[in-house]
Amino acid sequence: MKLKTQKISKTVKRTILLNPGPSSTTETVKDSLIQADICHREKEFAEITREVAEDLVKIVHGKKNDYVATLFAGSGTICIDVAIGSLVPKDKKVLIVNNGFYNDRALQVCQYYGIPVVDCKFDVLELPDLDVVEKTLKANKDDVAVVYMAHQETGTGLCNPIREVGALAHKYGKIFVSDTTSTLGIIPIDVYKDNIDFCMASSQKGINAFTGCSFLIGKKDYIEKTKDFPKRSYYTNLWRQYSYFKENGQMNFTPPVQIIYSMRQALKEHFEEGEKAKYQRFMTIAKTMREEIAKLGLEELLSEKITTGLVIAIKYPEDKNFDFQKIHDYLYNNGITIYPGKIGNLPTFRLCNLGSLQVEDILTAFKVLKEALKECGVAVPIKK
Ligand SMILES: *Cc1c(COP(=O)(O)O)cnc(C)c1O
Repeated sequence: MKLKTQKISKTVKRTILLNPGPSSTTETVKDSLIQADICHREKEFAEITREVAEDLVKIVHGKKNDYVATLFAGSGTICIDVAIGSLVPKDKKVLIVNNGFYNDRALQVCQYYGIPVVDCKFDVLELPDLDVVEKTLKANKDDVAVVYMAHQETGTGLCNPIREVGALAHKYGKIFVSDTTSTLGIIPIDVYKDNIDFCMASSQKGINAFTGCSFLIGKKDYIEKTKDFPKRSYYTNLWRQYSYFKENGQMNFTPPVQIIYSMRQALKEHFEEGEKAKYQRFMTIAKTMREEIAKLGLEELLSEKITTGLVIAIKYPEDKNFDFQKIHDYLYNNGITIYPGKIGNLPTFRLCNLGSLQVEDILTAFKVLKEALKECGVAVPIKK
């Protein structure tokens, strides 16, 4: 007997998301969400999960024998929680190279788990001073087990020197963990060259699928060691999830099934576009954004030299008529989303460069932004 088929088809508005995730998705990724209902314990689905996990390791050029991707159902922060909670031996410390909001989040995770931390703090508008990092590492070399730093501080767009900090960590025999949530899949990362033991990201960011699945990519031999480390969480423990997957070829608890289908499609598109071409597309978009920002007379918070180009933080213009909420709403009503800043009390907003964007989308967005500024009573180009 043959079961009936179901036909689902829907037309949706295409929107331009310039927020730091989730990102605009392609039609084919949207379409991939619609699948026959399936129980995640079936072999067919386990096979898809395995493929996705293997492809994630390929993105960062890891070899299958050295590195493994472990998946979790949750937003990107779940991986910060997993990494901090699972990778630190008893009585050892985490050294956080801390110059922003996301590094601070890791610090808070340490505090929640009662893990001692060395907070190597720097100004949020500057790159970390590597001499200070080394001195701090040296002074704490008997206590620290893990060096942690976000690749891109998504609040500012600052690009942290992972390769150099990873090299310092290794020089002192420590493991290096990087929060690469907002760069992985866009900025080429090579775990060997970049001295990364563990990195992480989430389905809705650089790989351009839907929200709901996050993954930690890391060294197998170190994960094996964590078997005897303190278990600080039941649900977000790396060893538990890794070993279950290894034995059963499945995630321990119910996975986000449809999201994993969308990741499979997004990864296919990632490899079809190619690492170099994809990175180039985003760099061209960044260049266009910067030209348009300058044309409007807006000012970037940070110098281009120290940023990734994937997040551009823009200072509020001094015009008293400028009202971020009004500008946001005007754009939103035209299908474009912009995002507030995240840098203490510095008034900024952000434009992020993520997802299935093309240069034309940026030109459209800026045309509407110009209208929005005028509508608000801000004279453009803005006078300094
Ligand atoms: C987006 C992001 C995260 C995760 O944030 P969620 O809100 O949990 O998805 C973590 N780190 C960085 C650097 C990010 O950009």
